[in-house]
Formats: sequence, C-alpha cells, structure tokens
Amino acid sequence: MKPIHSKLSLLALVAIMASCGGDSEKESSTTTPAEVDLSEFTSKQMTGVEQIEIDVDLDAAIQRLSKAVTFKTISNQDRDDFDTEAFANYHKFLEESYPNVHRELKKEVLGDPRPYSLLYTWEGTDPSLEPALFYAHQDVVPVPEESRDQWNQDPFAGAIADGYIWGRGVLDDKNQIHGILEAAEMRIAEGWKPSRTIYFVFGQDEEVGGHEGARYIADVLEERGIERFAYVMDESAPLTPGIFPGIPDNTALIGIAQKGFISLEIAISGVGGHSSQPPTESNIGILAKAITKLEEAQFPYKIHPAVRHQYRYMGPEMHEAQQPMYAAVAFGKDDELTDLEQEFINEMAENQVTRAMLHTTIATTMFNAGIKDNVLPPTATAVVNFRPMPGDSPEVIIQHVKDAIDDDRITVRDISASTPATNIANPESDGYKMLEKTIRQIYGNDLIVAPFFVIGGSDSKHFQARDFAPDVFTITAIQLENVKEFEGFHGVNERILVEEYARTIGFFYQILGNLEDME
Ligand SMILES: [Zn+2]
Repeated sequence: MKPIHSKLSLLALVAIMASCGGDSEKESSTTTPAEVDLSEFTSKQMTGVEQIEIDVDLDAAIQRLSKAVTFKTISNQDRDDFDTEAFANYHKFLEESYPNVHRELKKEVLGDPRPYSLLYTWEGTDPSLEPALFYAHQDVVPVPEESRDQWNQDPFAGAIADGYIWGRGVLDDKNQIHGILEAAEMRIAEGWKPSRTIYFVFGQDEEVGGHEGARYIADVLEERGIERFAYVMDESAPLTPGIFPGIPDNTALIGIAQKGFISLEIAISGVGGHSSQPPTESNIGILAKAITKLEEAQFPYKIHPAVRHQYRYMGPEMHEAQQPMYAAVAFGKDDELTDLEQEFINEMAENQVTRAMLHTTIATTMFNAGIKDNVLPPTATAVVNFRPMPGDSPEVIIQHVKDAIDDDRITVRDISASTPATNIANPESDGYKMLEKTIRQIYGNDLIVAPFFVIGGSDSKHFQARDFAPDVFTITAIQLENVKEFEGFHGVNERILVEEYARTIGFFYQILGNLEDME
C-alpha cells in the first residue's frame, strides 16, 4: 500500500504548487483584496532562536547507519514474504550498537501476529508528567529488479561514497531510528535522565499499513492507561528548499493531520443461470450501475481545518498577489463559504492530488465476476477504497454508499482493517513551538516552518486517531539539497549527505533536552 505512505503527501505539496502557485497569480489579481483584512495576515515564523551546534561522533554513527542498510527488512505486499531473520538480526545489531540504550531503557518486542516491532521505554523521573513518543519504522520498500541497474550503488550494501550514504531505508526511515538511538546513547553517556517518560516505537510494517506493529503497540499503550501524550513525532517530509512551490526558500513542513483508510466490498448475490436465457438484468450489469452511481455521488468539497492552519502559516510567506485568497482560507469559517474560498476550492479541485485534500476520496480498485463465457455468474463483487476526511466515520461512509446506490439487492461490507482520519495537532501548542524551536536551533533561521495536511499517512496515524495522542507532528529530520533528492524516497538512489546526518543526530539530541521545557 505504497499510496498511504507519506511520499504521496509530498507529491501533493508539489501539486499544490503547480495548481495554486503559478496559475493563481493572474487569477488572484482579478479578485478584490478589500474582501479580506490582510492586516492580521502577518508572518507566523518564530524569531530570535539561536542556532547551536551539537558535537557528534559522526564517523562511528555513519558506520552504524551504513550497516543498518544491509539488513533487508523489506515489507512486501504478500505478508508471507516477511523475512523474520532479517528483522531478528537487525534487532541484535541494534542491541550491540547501542549498549547504553539497551541497559537503561526497557525493550519489548511486540506485534500481532508477528512480534518484530520495538517498543523502548525510558522511564522519567517525574511520573506526573505526560509522556512523549518518537516513532520510526524498520521496514523498507522493495527494490524492483528492473530498477536495479539505475542505482549508482548497491541498494543494500550501505555504501559510503561521494559524500553520501546510500541505500534503501537511509532516507525512509532507518535514518530516524538511528538518529534517535545515537542521541539517546549520547545523553545516557552524559548521565542525563528525562523527567517525563519517553517511548521509542520502531514498527515492522509501516509500508503496508502498520496493522501488525504500530496499531498493536498503540493498543498496548492505551491498555496501559496512558491518558495523553505531551508530544508525539513521526516521519514525513524532509527539510527541502522549494518543496512548497511558490516558496523557493528552504522549508520545514510539519504534518499535523492525516487522512483515514477504509475499503468496502460492494456485492450482489442472486440467481445465476445459463446465458441462453438471461434475465433482463445480469448481476454484472446491476453492480456496474451501482458503481457508476457511487462515483457520481462524490463527497462534497470543504476546506479542512488543517488546510486553514497550513495557509495561515504559509500564506504570508508567498507572493503578495495570492495573499487575499490564502488569507480567506486561513481565516474562513466552516459554516460559510466566501468567493475567495470558492476560488481556492476550484483551483484545488482541478488537480487530482490537491483535490484529495478537499474531501473523502472514492476509488474503485477491484471488480470480480464470472468464470465462463456461457454462464451467468451468481455473484459479482467490487472493492472500493476510501480515504476519509475527519468526521467521515465508517458508518457515515457506508450510509453514503447505500444512499448513492439505492438498491436493496446490493450488499456493502467493511473488509479493511480501517483507520479513521486522525485528530488535528494544534500548531499553536507548546509541542509545535518546541519542535519549531528545535528545528531553528539545528537548521538556523534561514528557512520557513509551516504545518501541513498529509493526504496519505504514516504509522503515527494509529496513535493520532486516538484521544491519547491528539498532537502528533510529522517531519523527517534530514536536510535535502533539493527536491530532486526526494526521488530516492521509494525510488532509485536513495541517499543522504553524510554531513547532514550529524544534524539529524543533533536534532534528536536537542529535542530530548527541549522536552524538559514543556509543561
Ligand atoms: Zn517511511
């Protein structure tokens, strides 16, 4: 299920730029800026943060990340292909590489039906404080045989060459696992202890939905009675110049909400029979009509609160001509729609990627019926995949489907391990501010920091969909040189700059300390 991966969210951003960036400039000039009060639409960028440098033993850390790449912890869609030995060996390597962590923290190996996800608990000195959680995943996407010859280095050799460390997982997402563990190892060596309890969760199946690992661990933590996490962080977009079209500057995007996932089987069971004497309507014909009716009954477009947050932060950094529209989106109210908001929706709806930010999507992905040319099939089934917006629960979606089809002969059944859309993390919260401060301490002030709505999702959706983790923030703490480098994410020549990995470690080292300042 690669589409649920955060890569899609990134592509979405690029598409937003394509649809709302360039084109809208001329259109915006035809609207009347007087409709919106721009005096409040001022920059939300944090100022006055001093940049710092954290000393790390980069050579040793690079050797460990390089070695990590050689464990083929691949997630195939066929779950029978799960390589238990690769994961077990990787766990052993982690244990040997980070002795302080494995002495000071409690490690549990969890998952259902296969236990290969890691939960580390770093007990805090003050049990009254809400805990924090850092998420990353062990699994990587496969390297298709036909793309092998496009790699400059063997994708599983962990090559260090030309100033980069190369290989599958080095950007998605072993860099984060090792960045976190290197930072913890350094902190423990200094005798540091956290006040609040800190969890590290490293899942085994993020690339195929996270049901075995992240979801199971979210259940475990919920059962242990954790009422609320003060801070949860997971991967998403890396820091990249120009990642948000319209903003050429270096940009750090912080995911604040993720869409859900549900698949419904839509079926008809009736009388089959011989094709020489067909009824007026076949099962295939009835089901085809039902799907056509459903596709015509799209969920209505609306501007999601997470999208309003996104444009509140990004808008003031963008071209002046576009600001009335973005201000209208940022300050708009959910129960009314202004002309400028409608204009925004129209532009977003023109592109299939940005359109997905506006509503629950409907995608017919499977259609099965019939086995022989002279036999009328007694059953016909289709599968439709939905990516719900917040508020569109499975019940709401099933009712929508039944109303659209309006045919009692058709049955509708939830066949997925569905995931609801998540909560929306608050960009005005202490957690967001602490994260932005950490980003600026490590990466400086010559960059834009902004929240955004993730139309895909990563494993933290299993936490953020629950009341105990409303404030989940997603970002990958690595600086890329340009947007092109992002192509390695699930693609060929996945690599990161050796020098930048030092700042990844510094970032996690610093955020552990900054967590102490949160209430
Ligand atoms: Zn990932």
